[in-house]
Amino acid sequence: MPALLEAQSLAKHYGGVHALDGVDFTIEPGITGLLGANGAGKSTALKLFLGLIDPTEGRAIFEGVDVASSPRVRQRLGYMPEHDCLPGNVDAVEFLSYMAQLSGLPRHDARVRAADTLRHVGLEEERYRTLGTYSTGMKQRVKLAQALVHDPALALLDEPTAGLDPMGRQQMLELIEHIGREFGISVVLSSHLMGDVERTCDRVIVLEAGRVSREGSVAGFTTETTTLAIQVSEGADALTEELRRRGLDPRPDGPSLILESVEEDAYDIVRDAVVASGALLYSMAPRQHSLTELFRDDLAPNAAPAAGEPAATEEPS
Ligand code: ATP
Repeated sequence: MPALLEAQSLAKHYGGVHALDGVDFTIEPGITGLLGANGAGKSTALKLFLGLIDPTEGRAIFEGVDVASSPRVRQRLGYMPEHDCLPGNVDAVEFLSYMAQLSGLPRHDARVRAADTLRHVGLEEERYRTLGTYSTGMKQRVKLAQALVHDPALALLDEPTAGLDPMGRQQMLELIEHIGREFGISVVLSSHLMGDVERTCDRVIVLEAGRVSREGSVAGFTTETTTLAIQVSEGADALTEELRRRGLDPRPDGPSLILESVEEDAYDIVRDAVVASGALLYSMAPRQHSLTELFRDDLAPNAAPAAGEPAATEEPS
């Protein structure tokens, strides 16, 4: 079975600017993050996969077909552009019906499908308001809805959390996960925010100045460390003392006690110390690296956030 998307030596140059510099990668079904600082080439890659721009070199392939020579593949793709692109003077149902009809649905089916999709993105109540009166969060949802209204196999979402406050961002990421996991629509999520990718994606491809710098499963990157985090609901001081007596060196970190560089036997020592101290153990687990820690050096220098957005290295709130 061919990969869903494939970049083969894919390049796009604008004069001397190498927006994409001959990249090779594949994207399988599921939710994939395309992560990179501003200007890394993410939007360019999405536009090449949609056939909206032609590559300077190489091929963009969707389900085994070169998109440059077969524009019809676009019927199976949904696209949420980064920038505001909505007409202000029509309501959401009208706009979405129109988009559904453009993709070939008859008028009545398109209206039904538009109403369904608006319900899925949480805009049922506001569906007859003109788009010009929508908040940024609502506009992002309409943009997402128009990417889904024709039931694509794959949705390409360009910075879907741009301009959203923490609550709006959380809701948008939940929606994207829902689409990917419940509706069976694969997603490519382009973002400069590692937190977005970490929360939502199965795999990540990291772009840096037009090249792929890393790729792999998010779980593979966020590997377990040798740091152990212990939470107790009572008796933290007594447990700290008991652990010290047994040769460990716990350090408090908010509600947790942290043990660094632990060996296998630390789990047995903690168990015995919990019993001896009478503390009430709530949880004990190895800490995981976050993508933020792993990619801090890669993304930080260029990742100037847009106004009102968290920086690329900032953890989601
Ligand atoms: P952002 O999120 O800031 O859009 P990005 O990773 O999506 O970042 P691209 O928009 O793909 O980056 O741009 C990659 C590089 O190509 C940038 O240096 C950009 O200025 C340049 N570029 C993109 N489109 C054009 C164009 N039409 N003409 C000239 N240069 C372009």
